Amino acid sequence: MVLGDRLALLTEVARRINNGIELEDLLAYVQEQVEAPIAEADKTELMVVLGSLLSMVAQNEALFAQVLRTNAALARLDDLSREINQAHNVEDIVRVAAAGLSELVGADAFALYILAEGLPALLGWDAPPDAFPQTVSVLSAGGARLLGKEGADEVTLGVGSLAGRPTLVELLRGGEGAALGLMIIRRPLGAEDIAPEVRPVVSALAGHLAVSIHNARLLAEMRRHATFDDLTGLSGRRHFFTEMRREIARARRDKRPLSLLMLDADHFKAINDTYGHPAGDAVLVAMAEALVEGTRTVDICGRLGGEEMGVLLPQAGKDHALMVAERLRVAIRDTVVAWKELEIGITVSIGVATWDEPMTPEDMMQVADQALYMAKAEGRDRVISESSLNTIEIAPPG
Ligand code: GH3
Ligand code: MG
Ligand code: MG
Repeated sequence: MVLGDRLALLTEVARRINNGIELEDLLAYVQEQVEAPIAEADKTELMVVLGSLLSMVAQNEALFAQVLRTNAALARLDDLSREINQAHNVEDIVRVAAAGLSELVGADAFALYILAEGLPALLGWDAPPDAFPQTVSVLSAGGARLLGKEGADEVTLGVGSLAGRPTLVELLRGGEGAALGLMIIRRPLGAEDIAPEVRPVVSALAGHLAVSIHNARLLAEMRRHATFDDLTGLSGRRHFFTEMRREIARARRDKRPLSLLMLDADHFKAINDTYGHPAGDAVLVAMAEALVEGTRTVDICGRLGGEEMGVLLPQAGKDHALMVAERLRVAIRDTVVAWKELEIGITVSIGVATWDEPMTPEDMMQVADQALYMAKAEGRDRVISESSLNTIEIAPPG
């Protein structure tokens, strides 16, 4: 056999191997191509060579399939990261991540824990109820405790199990590498352990989750600041106006009454001057508590600024509003604010406005403010209702 023929033969053998030929058929083909019959000893040798060629091809194929799978996983991870970035609250982030992980890892349950003072507390989950404990303790693969305290349900970092189900536990790390929390991916009872190969994909995902959760919490905190007053926890002025606009629209649509109380602490400056600003703050907190305690859940209490608060009373006409205002006035007058070893008393003046067409929130505020001004002028610690800009009614102090 000349060299050129041999090369042609080898090339054809390689082609046939690639096409998935069986060893026996390959041998028969080679036999056909060589002029002389192949000796038995040579045949065995040839079988070995062709066999190892075939096994190399099989290995390559397996590797190729794995590359394809990894590529598909990376592409899915890329999509998933984008979806996670677009989610702006923890529930959405958890939902998106859980859907992706069920596809990527065959997970049937997913939980996120956030650290507060070293204790990982359940923040969000996509799982049957009670699938995950409220707090966990995280152990290293070697068994050392990394997070949480003794007594809590223990999970092992990396591949492990929780309540007999295969799990994968990954830490979520913040910018400086410090642990922010962790995620637990769980497979169904009886399922195989999570393959170690998926771990890089899962840790990449954990990185995205950490950033998104950090941002979502920051956003929620910013929203809370924009909505509620830090000191008293009441609605802030801007949010109170938003609520007023909504309640006015509702009152108009349902033809129901709506009233506004505007309260201002009497001689509040004197409290600050006598006991100090922190004592004044404690009085404001007590005042806010009295408002929340003395109203229904549908009523909206807000801090309008300084020592001025508002209460919006849906479905309350003038008489009802006067009654509520009077009750709140008495409740606040009866409140004793304990400050250090002191007991501080406070009174409020209240102006009442009742909505009528075509009043805007600003109109209602102005009316209540005028009534409040009257209450101050009349001697404070009292309620005055002004049902329109021109008529003023005075409720006698009880
Ligand atoms: P009036 O009965 O006429 O309402 O008198 P007043 O002293 O309550 O009214 P004034 O407007 O003179 O004083 C209000 C004071 O409230 C002045 C301001 O320093 C104080 N103040 C405003 N916001 C806060 C706060 O957040 N904390 C404390 N401690 N004081 C505050
Ligand atoms: Mg005041
Ligand atoms: Mg004031």
